[in-house]
Amino acid sequence: MNITELTVHELQEKLENKEITLTEITKAYIDRINSKENDVQAFVTTLTDEALKKAEEIQNKKENEEITGEFAGIPIGIKDNICTKGVKTTCSSKMLENFVAPYNATVIEKLNEQNIINLGKLNMDEFAMGGSTEYSYFKKTRNPWNLNKVPGGSSGGSAAAVAANMVPWALGSDTGGSIRQPSSFCGVVGLKPTYGLVSRYGLVAFASSLDQIGPITKDVRDSSILLNLIVGHDEKDTTSVEMQKKDYTKALKNDVNGLKIGVPKEFFGEGINEEVKEALKKAIEKYKELGAKIEEFSLDISKYSLAAYYIIACAEASSNLGRFDGIRYGYRAKEYKNLKELYKKSRSEGFGEEVKRRIILGTYVLSSGYYDAYYKKAQKVRTLVMKEFNKGFEKYDVILTPTSPTVAFDIGSKTNNPLEMYLADICTVSVNVAGLPGISIPVGVDKQGMPIGMQLIGNKFQEETILNAAYTLEQQIKFRENYKPSF
Ligand code: GLN
Repeated sequence: MNITELTVHELQEKLENKEITLTEITKAYIDRINSKENDVQAFVTTLTDEALKKAEEIQNKKENEEITGEFAGIPIGIKDNICTKGVKTTCSSKMLENFVAPYNATVIEKLNEQNIINLGKLNMDEFAMGGSTEYSYFKKTRNPWNLNKVPGGSSGGSAAAVAANMVPWALGSDTGGSIRQPSSFCGVVGLKPTYGLVSRYGLVAFASSLDQIGPITKDVRDSSILLNLIVGHDEKDTTSVEMQKKDYTKALKNDVNGLKIGVPKEFFGEGINEEVKEALKKAIEKYKELGAKIEEFSLDISKYSLAAYYIIACAEASSNLGRFDGIRYGYRAKEYKNLKELYKKSRSEGFGEEVKRRIILGTYVLSSGYYDAYYKKAQKVRTLVMKEFNKGFEKYDVILTPTSPTVAFDIGSKTNNPLEMYLADICTVSVNVAGLPGISIPVGVDKQGMPIGMQLIGNKFQEETILNAAYTLEQQIKFRENYKPSF
């Protein structure tokens, strides 16, 4: 048995049957990190010594029945924009290179209550801005399926670490696709919950009206388990909703008979890679065989989503990142003549190219002369996108699209062309603009053996519907059994 190849629910089963111990699990992951990190470069900070100590502690407490949590002692990896008390939270930025969060994000508190063990903080695009993890100040994470390819982003460290079996599961964040797209590139499962379902308290803000934390896992069951562990109302986040607690694993019925699936034709047109289309068509055929009702329809407004997204996201980012001024915390320039120069130099030196590009863009669209023409218009488009989705969900339970127009691209192939990098987000951003839940699951590989992801979008708070649809197809495709990364 290779421990690190197992899903969390498989690990849990083995723990229950006393086939393995928690210490063995954490040790196996530490060995795996030690042997693979050089190639994959997924971690900004590893917490291996601390993790092992905790595993031993929890193992003992479990034996004495002092701890009962079902997933107590299971390790996890955390994207480095989620605050962890006493541990660096860098957002992969020079600005926060030495920032140690004085408090835990709510999701971390929840994981701590369940005695989940943090194995380390995972690499990302600086402040979650990007789609390849190449904008990290520290390192470029590589795709475990092919080390010359990007893992996607911005949660590239999280997706790569799960794919390379360096952590059993991870948390990412998704503002415009940053959980789903890297999951698609790395052949794992990524879920972006409905806006408001998971507390954003302690998630370093990029674009507050779009950001959500969510699970990156090896399969759909693990996704629903991790979702169970992190949802819930939080008074510290005013956008967090009050809802009755559900057990999302109960949604996994392995049955899509009668499920109405809408396929927007705009997502299967020009610009979408042929092999991606082929793989999705096969998935659609499978759904038909299983009794789902598939219908093509038009989601015309989606072509404006990308523009609206980049205006709104940059506007909010320019405001959110105003706090990094070199005074309160974060990087401070070494030499300056006066206060203005201190601000200017600290921000110029502390932020990377992409972050600065977005701050400038965002400041521009919010400036008095352009506010109506750009920001206000983008907000109107946002309303139209929501309405269009609402119309879709009057007819369908689920909307099915590719997660990304292509498979993972070569490292370095898009960094000189920001617009091309933005265009790669075309399939995912609408979901954030409309505040909906979306899941990406692997459905096959292309001729070069790179994973292809499919996205299922649900109506607000209908995570159960997309989880079940994803799970049902996963049982048929058996991606994990049939395809494996190169190492
Ligand atoms: N790639 C998108 C962007 O660069 C999405 C980022 C995200 O979801 N954090 O904005």
